[in-house]
Formats: sequence, C-alpha cells, structure tokens
Amino acid sequence: RFITFEGGEGAGKSTQVDRLAARLRARGQEVVTTREPGGSPTAEKFRNIVLSGQAKQFGAFAETTLFAAARLDHLRETIEPALRRGAWVICDRFMDSTRAYQGALGKIKPGVMRALEFVTVGDTVPGLTLLLDLPPEDGLKRAAKRGMGRRADRFESEDIDYHRSLRRAFLDIAAEEPKRIHTIDAQKSPDEVAQAVWDDVAKTFAL
Ligand code: C5P
Repeated sequence: RFITFEGGEGAGKSTQVDRLAARLRARGQEVVTTREPGGSPTAEKFRNIVLSGQAKQFGAFAETTLFAAARLDHLRETIEPALRRGAWVICDRFMDSTRAYQGALGKIKPGVMRALEFVTVGDTVPGLTLLLDLPPEDGLKRAAKRGMGRRADRFESEDIDYHRSLRRAFLDIAAEEPKRIHTIDAQKSPDEVAQAVWDDVAKTFAL
C-alpha cells in the first residue's frame, strides 16, 4: 500500500498524487500523501538546506548523506507509522529520485548508492512506483508556466541536456525493475494521466 511517483520537472507528480489520493479516499480508504525531500518536520528542514544549495559546498557525497538522513526520519516519523496502521502512503519522489539525481547524475558510485539505500529504505520498498515520463522540453514548459522554473530553491541546472540525462536515467532505472516501476505517458492531459494511474493502481493492488 506504498505508492511512489517519480519523474522530471513538470511531469505532474504533485497533481497526480492528489488525484490518486482523492480517488482512494472516495472509496473510504485512509491515505497519507507526502513528499521527498521532506515529509516530516525534521526532514523538511533538510529539504530547505539541500534545495537552497547550502550543502553543495560539502560536495555531492555529503549532500547525498543529507538526503539519506532526511529519508530515515521521513520513514520513521511519517511513512512507516501510516503503513503500520493500514493507511495508503503516496509519496511524491522517493528512492528512485536518489538513484537518478545523486546516482546517475551526481556520479556517486553504485556501491555507495546501494549501501545507503539499504540502510535507509531497508524493507520499506514501494509496492508500486509510477514514473511519469515526458520529453523534458514539455516538462520545463509546464514548470515555467507555474513559475516553478524560477523557483528560488531550484538548485539543479536548467540546461536541457541535464534534463534529457535525467529522463534517460529514470527510464533506465525503470527498465531494471519492471515489476515495481511502471512508466506512464505524462504527455497526455491530467485527466487522461489520472485515469492511466488509476487503472494501474487498481490492477496492481487488485482493487
Ligand atoms: O519538483 P520537486 O519539488 O519534486 O523538486 C525537488 C527537487 O529536488 C528536484 O527538482 C531535484 O532538483 C531535487 N532532488 C534531488 N535529489 C533527490 C530528490 C530531489 O536533487 N533525491
């Protein structure tokens, strides 16, 4: 009952998190929606540090350990208690963002990535991960429309090649775990994407 959404900039993750939560709630289910980096009071503090770029001076590895520390707190304080009481947990970004941003793009070594993932996530691997995939040009256009492109906390490159590599990284990650990670065409309208998401969730969890 743990579902994560992944994808690049402007893919519509937060919209789809809300749409899926509403649909599950309409069926009388308890749903906790959350996000990374952040998702618990302490982890939100880490989010501010990391997204403001303050951690950059310490290098990519230190930054990665901050993401890991934030995730540990998020799991203990928010995700695991909710799952234990039988709630659905829907998270905007999780371990696959770390694999893509810090691993594939941040060039942290695979062995280090695996070890960090093992000690933070442990057994709390999502039952389903939905990768919202679309060409980066479209995503950036959408993000700019919402003013997100100019967001003060934005700390990654706005360079199109960076976002192309990011898309490639997510697709490669998805290809490695086709059972858990399902790719959804996010170029369609929000309604169509929401329906595709629902169909996938209903099938995966036999609803
Ligand atoms: O769009 P969203 O609010 O999810 O943005 C969070 C940002 O944090 C991402 O655009 C990305 O730059 C960054 N991030 C990261 N590594 C992670 C998760 C998020 O660099 N593991």
